[in-house]
Amino acid sequence: MKPYLREKAPKTLSEILEAPAYESGYLVTKNAGWRNIRPVINADKCVGCLQCYLYCPDGVIYKDGGKVAIDYDFCKGCGICKKMCKTGAIEMEAEK
Ligand code: SF4
Ligand code: SF4
Repeated sequence: MKPYLREKAPKTLSEILEAPAYESGYLVTKNAGWRNIRPVINADKCVGCLQCYLYCPDGVIYKDGGKVAIDYDFCKGCGICKKMCKTGAIEMEAEK
């Protein structure tokens, strides 16, 4: 697994960007490999309400053509996005 290297590590609190850790580039490694289930989005059921985007604790859901997509490199498989999705567009599936 390749480590993600920071271009410049923050030295003070004021240098830390006001953005999810993922966007800020402060995560240094990809998913450690312990995730055993992953969220899968059914685009037909997704209405683009962005509730999953807002509640994902890792900030790994991003807008994609009026709907959303997930960066599986950093998703931890917690399932909060599935819980927040009121249209049932997200299912948790076993890792293969
Ligand atoms: S919560 Fe569900 S319907 Fe809303 S954007 Fe996410 S996947 Fe789509
Ligand atoms: S399973 Fe958890 S970490 Fe992964 S996209 Fe959903 S809310 Fe984010």
